[in-house]
Amino acid sequence: MKNKKTIEDVDVAGKRVLVRVDFNVPLYEGIVMDDTRIREALPTLRYLIEHKARVIIASHLGRPAGGMFESQFSMMPAAMRLIQLLGQPVTLLGGPIAGEQALSASLALKDGEVMMLENLRFNKGEKRNDLAFVRKLAALCDIYVDDAFGASHRAHASIAGVPQFVPSVGGFLLAKEVNTLNKMLEDPKRPFTAILGGSKVSDKIGIIDNLIEIADTVIIGGAMCFTFLAAQGHSVGTSKMEEDMVETAKGMLERAKAKGVRLMIPTDVVCADMFAEGARTLVCGVDAIPSDMMGLDIGPETTAAYAEVIEASATVLWNGPMGVFEFPSFEAGTKGVAQAVAACSGETVIGGGDSVAAIKKFGLADQVSFISTGGGASMQLLEGKELPGVAALDDKEV
Ligand code: ADP
Ligand code: MG
Repeated sequence: MKNKKTIEDVDVAGKRVLVRVDFNVPLYEGIVMDDTRIREALPTLRYLIEHKARVIIASHLGRPAGGMFESQFSMMPAAMRLIQLLGQPVTLLGGPIAGEQALSASLALKDGEVMMLENLRFNKGEKRNDLAFVRKLAALCDIYVDDAFGASHRAHASIAGVPQFVPSVGGFLLAKEVNTLNKMLEDPKRPFTAILGGSKVSDKIGIIDNLIEIADTVIIGGAMCFTFLAAQGHSVGTSKMEEDMVETAKGMLERAKAKGVRLMIPTDVVCADMFAEGARTLVCGVDAIPSDMMGLDIGPETTAAYAEVIEASATVLWNGPMGVFEFPSFEAGTKGVAQAVAACSGETVIGGGDSVAAIKKFGLADQVSFISTGGGASMQLLEGKELPGVAALDDKEV
């Protein structure tokens, strides 16, 4: 975001500031189960309050049908949690998201006061980036702040639309996320190791392609390693393998070789006779996977080899678990990699919903330099693409 304005570049005092946050938090019976995303927005919200802005918070939550209020997707639980964290009142507006009532409430706000709009997706115009809805949102504010990193890969009304009509800047969370990931891609301390796993090569092609260009070593695990193993001529039994991606994987192996990038794939795996915690298991070399078994984790020899490379790296990026870590029988590879990332003294960054869940599960989250809060948004940055939400912000004057 080097070339984009942030909240420190504008005068917010006395201004109505619409802050797009990502309060898409997990709920259970009306209670926020994980308030990380609310906490991450606090620096921006506190800054605006201290600098006497009139703050209007907006977010989406879950996947309501759109077109009406649905109580299970109300922002109420998030508003309640925010009140506790901020220690000041926050008025949650009922009624149409950007109707007359919202406009008059925005005009009645005093310096340092905070109000919150209901779930943006109650309005069908949000996801469609509908012009009429964009104009209504824009009318609520003098300045727009994007601090919703986790939603900034979506060209929705509150992300890409509103900035076309009002001065628009990035918040602290957005800037921290984008700057950390971009710096790692643009100017990493070396050796730089990228650990890529997860379920599908097809989901991660863009990331693997981009990282082969940048990293010194690319480590492959997860279900997608079986597509790479198949590309090398191994039989992978009943493992989850993408037949139509085998040629693509071959191309990646060749390109890595031509570029002198070390692309590591497993030498042993943990196989199972079914996809279940209680399955019969077998640890075997990759040239001995039984035809009636599936690989559900990387093996101990592979985990040790990966850990050695990871610990000796100056920069580590991790996206995607090494195996089906949700089942204790197949968590060892992911756990071993998580421990190596935690033990690495270099800059360590984790992005991707399930990888973040894994590091938290193993209680190692506080031993990592940076954990991205956005799954899809961080994936898009790792593919080397600009986010629509960032592209829409005002350029810095030079
Ligand atoms: P992330 O959210 O970190 O980007 P993905 O969504 O791509 O990761 O993949 C995570 C999922 O991949 C997990 O649910 C995990 O169980 C699954 N997975 C990992 N290894 C295997 C495997 N060998 N077979 C089947 N599924 C796997
Ligand atoms: Mg995932």
